[in-house]
Amino acid sequence: MIPFNKPPMTGNELKYIEQAMQSQKLCGDGKFGVRCQTWFENRLNTERVLLTPSCTHALELAAILIDIQPGDEVIMPSYTFVSTANPFVLRGAKIIFVDIRQDTMNINEKLIEQAISCKTKAIVPVHYAGVACEMDTIIAIANKYNLFVIEDAAQAVNSFYKGRPLGTFGDLAAYSFHETKNYSSGGEGGLLIINNRRFVERAEIIREKGTNRSLFFRGMVDKYSWVDIGSSYLPSEIQSAYLWAQLESYEEINNRRLMLWERYNNSLKILQDKGLIELPKIPTHCKHNAHMFYIKCNTLKVRQKLISYLKDNAILAVFHYIPLHSSIAGKIYAEFRGYDNYTTNESDKLVRLPLFFNMTIEEQDTVIKNILDFKNW
Ligand SMILES: *Cc1c(COP(=O)(O)O)cnc(C)c1O
Repeated sequence: MIPFNKPPMTGNELKYIEQAMQSQKLCGDGKFGVRCQTWFENRLNTERVLLTPSCTHALELAAILIDIQPGDEVIMPSYTFVSTANPFVLRGAKIIFVDIRQDTMNINEKLIEQAISCKTKAIVPVHYAGVACEMDTIIAIANKYNLFVIEDAAQAVNSFYKGRPLGTFGDLAAYSFHETKNYSSGGEGGLLIINNRRFVERAEIIREKGTNRSLFFRGMVDKYSWVDIGSSYLPSEIQSAYLWAQLESYEEINNRRLMLWERYNNSLKILQDKGLIELPKIPTHCKHNAHMFYIKCNTLKVRQKLISYLKDNAILAVFHYIPLHSSIAGKIYAEFRGYDNYTTNESDKLVRLPLFFNMTIEEQDTVIKNILDFKNW
């Protein structure tokens, strides 16, 4: 069976996990945690980053930081994972969905302005498949209406928009190190990126159970105590040790994924030329990270036939997402503003092919050959 995904492994993970264990300190913000954070701060050239137990948690922290109140509205695409919406719903916000673009499956930046009301507090662009949203337009709208921008950059680690890394555009941004993403911290993990300086101190407090423990460790207060609401948003050193091994191979992982992505793209182009499928479209000013390789079939029916045919041939291909506005919780906590021209139609046609760092060329050739042999387009 060719799986849809395997967690990325570069070879040094166990060595670093062992070092963490030998250090006799495994709670958050230890040697490996600090090392990973410094690495990202330098690379992104940003105010502060904080490792979290997941991208979901990083977004929860972000929702608390921008002080979401019951009744506030938050704009995002419906074509996304539930974790884009849940952190804001947990604070009492109403989610406002706008349609996506047909080409990148990202939020259609031209539809955002008409979805804004006096209750709107933030825009949450999702960089789907590691391909950037139109950040120039989105930031301009946010400035015009005085809104926060929180990037869901879960899939966009090591992706760029006009030469600048994704995750550095919004007031706040979140990365995911889940095992299905490009870089993992041992299965689960995330990063909060703080680009707006005003959030740094409070973010550290909320992450440390609502205490000013970070200030205490820096010698800035002589006792630490409960000063604000908070939770425990620190990953363990075991997770950071795993992540450190991945960061050491940052470009190696990226290059391998890009190579596999290009191979799919070149091999399946013949099907696009025959009008049987559509390949992903990458705008020229976006540098993507090969997070995902998907194709679009012409109809939902063909998509389902293709997935089950591949399964019969021991290949796991998957589809996602059920648009959030059609889901049970989406009907309660959200509203689609404007027309659903593409969200449902385009998501119905999409199928994701296996693509992971440790995938072999033989495995990929098997997937390609099977797709080229498929007859029921
Ligand atoms: C994976 C993903 C998340 C959640 O990441 P976790 O680290 O699993 O919490 C959120 N948003 C998007 C778009 C994702 O792909």
